[in-house]
Amino acid sequence: MNYQIKNRVVGVDISVKRTTYAIVDIRGNILARNFFPTNDYANVNDFITVLCEKVIELTEQNGGYENIRSMGISAPSANYLTGCIENAANLPWKGIIPLAAMLRDRLGMAVALGNDGHITALGEHAFGTAHGMKNFIIMTLGHGVGSCIFTDGKVHLGNEGFAGEIGHTCIVDNGRECGCGRRGCMEAYVAQKGIIATAKELMAESDAPSLMRSLEELTPKTIVDCCEQGDEMAIEVYRRTGVVLGISVANYASVLDPEAIIFTGGISNAGHWLFDPAYEEFENHVYHNIKGKVKFLRSSIDDRERDVLGASALAWGIKEYSLFK
Ligand SMILES: [Zn+2]
Repeated sequence: MNYQIKNRVVGVDISVKRTTYAIVDIRGNILARNFFPTNDYANVNDFITVLCEKVIELTEQNGGYENIRSMGISAPSANYLTGCIENAANLPWKGIIPLAAMLRDRLGMAVALGNDGHITALGEHAFGTAHGMKNFIIMTLGHGVGSCIFTDGKVHLGNEGFAGEIGHTCIVDNGRECGCGRRGCMEAYVAQKGIIATAKELMAESDAPSLMRSLEELTPKTIVDCCEQGDEMAIEVYRRTGVVLGISVANYASVLDPEAIIFTGGISNAGHWLFDPAYEEFENHVYHNIKGKVKFLRSSIDDRERDVLGASALAWGIKEYSLFK
């Protein structure tokens, strides 16, 4: 009888700039980690070859490949149900990429994919703010708006694997153009470009003085710096952003009745400048029987670790497989 279990997994985060891969143990400790530039590999086969070589090298240097149970991957537009990256707007590989199957064949182990929101939800549930929660919503506010619904103890994927795309729900009829090609999406107001657009609109609306007018670079972060210095127009940028966020999330929560909404991503660093107006508007619009009961929380996982830890949680959740058994 063999009592030995494979007590490690590999978590991978593929983002536009870099691909990070890590060995994670059964308690969520990151034992080793490295990265390489994603964009150096215009051909996905070359990318897979390099990823496999590097993962094997790292595992051999840290306890051996034979102790790795499975691999979980976080990638933009990744679909857990199909194991494919599907039409990712910003990655070099176009169309449908069956990444999980390709890696499984090369590595001889079980591989699963999830999109950013899905992975973040699993990571928060296993290791972070959502530990012990059965119903919550993840909102990742950054270049875009990522989201995931966690309900009755598990991630809700939907029929096609794309549930939770609140960023592309319409919040303003015939409003701003969105990267998805439609108009008025919530993401066009609450993600990075949207916040900058709101700042420009405000500066054009009046001649009032503002520190934002003399910024070398207008970014969500530099606008927060202006807020910290008491700049009224900058504070108004985040107030307007918070109003859209609050109403939108109130609709979401009224449908799903979550225990908490957990915010991550660079934009959430705006803190109270964003979340005070957002929560006020949330409370004004949410279904009355859950008013006052839904918590607004921030992620407790380090930004640099969130994606590989979430990917490791995904890896533990899939069935073990080996070519060599
Ligand atoms: Zn959109």
